[in-house]
Amino acid sequence: MQDVLIKGLLCADAVRLSAISGQELCEAARMTHGLSRVCTAALGRTLLMTAMMGADLKSGHDKVTAIIKGGGPAGNIVCTGNSAGAVKGYIENPALELPLGPDGKLDVSSAVGWYGALTVLRDMGLKEPYTGRCAMVSGEIAEDFAQYFTSSEQQPSLVYLGVRVDSQTGKVRAGGGLLLQPLPHCPEETLDRLQAKAEGIQRLAAMLEEGLPLKDALSALFDGMDLRIVDELRPAFCCDCNRERLEKVLISLGREELRDMIEQEHGAELTCHFCNTIYRFDEAQLRALLREAVSGV
Ligand SMILES: [Zn+2]
Repeated sequence: MQDVLIKGLLCADAVRLSAISGQELCEAARMTHGLSRVCTAALGRTLLMTAMMGADLKSGHDKVTAIIKGGGPAGNIVCTGNSAGAVKGYIENPALELPLGPDGKLDVSSAVGWYGALTVLRDMGLKEPYTGRCAMVSGEIAEDFAQYFTSSEQQPSLVYLGVRVDSQTGKVRAGGGLLLQPLPHCPEETLDRLQAKAEGIQRLAAMLEEGLPLKDALSALFDGMDLRIVDELRPAFCCDCNRERLEKVLISLGREELRDMIEQEHGAELTCHFCNTIYRFDEAQLRALLREAVSGV
């Protein structure tokens, strides 16, 4: 089923809703990085969340980046998204596998860890990006983001993130995410009604796995809550790296570093963390970059 991201409102426009069905983008991330099962779930959840945050950005040039430093054996997770629903991301130790947790589920919490911080950077073209940070809660990622919105952005939020992975093949069977944020005028009784839905929401990825389109799953989950869809996007896992950008990175390393690369290594090989594309620069190309660095361009 094609990935889709829906933005909408609930309960007479008292609650903002973002929802995503992202099997394809999670599977693309798995294939790109050779993710283990538990890392598929960990990176997949973070990508789904980043796509939903990206879709809330105003301008096409804005970007949002989530950095999870949980201190677990899977290492750090970095994901970046934009307003069109494009996301990219990586996890430091993509092959890490752990035994299933006591509940028989992938043990994302132990892989990611809960000792460090979750940081969100919103780059809106200003000099400095807007930065928010909170301590990790559980390493389950949805809980960590819920805590982030509440404590760092003063926006109470209900967050659900679920990635279903085939136990045999490791392929992604479904990926679902949901972000509910009551608006300032939201009445107390609406909050109670939302809270009552919290358990049902946990079924979203399973519903998508059964083949239900996202829109139908939302209608079922929020039956009687006046769901109004305002926007629909096609999210995707894709990287915007290119050779020019990496040339700038090389130039920014400085003359000394470039000379070292030329004289000792006779070339350079740079890998994009987000998509694993390898960019090779031979000696002549590095010399050209060195001239640019020397002239201070
Ligand atoms: Zn790339």
